[in-house]
Amino acid sequence: MTLRQVTCPYCGYRMPVFYSEKAAAKGLYITCKGKKCKKKFEIRIEQDR
Ligand SMILES: [Zn+2]
Repeated sequence: MTLRQVTCPYCGYRMPVFYSEKAAAKGLYITCKGKKCKKKFEIRIEQDR
């Protein structure tokens, strides 16, 4: 199983959040931990088919 990592769409900061290939999510928000960024963004994970 390969884990993928969530990255901030604004600054590219690699968040300490991982998801598997079978994950699916929307409407899930996280605040960027980049020191100069701190933006909220939605984690959207769509399943590959
Ligand atoms: Zn960021």
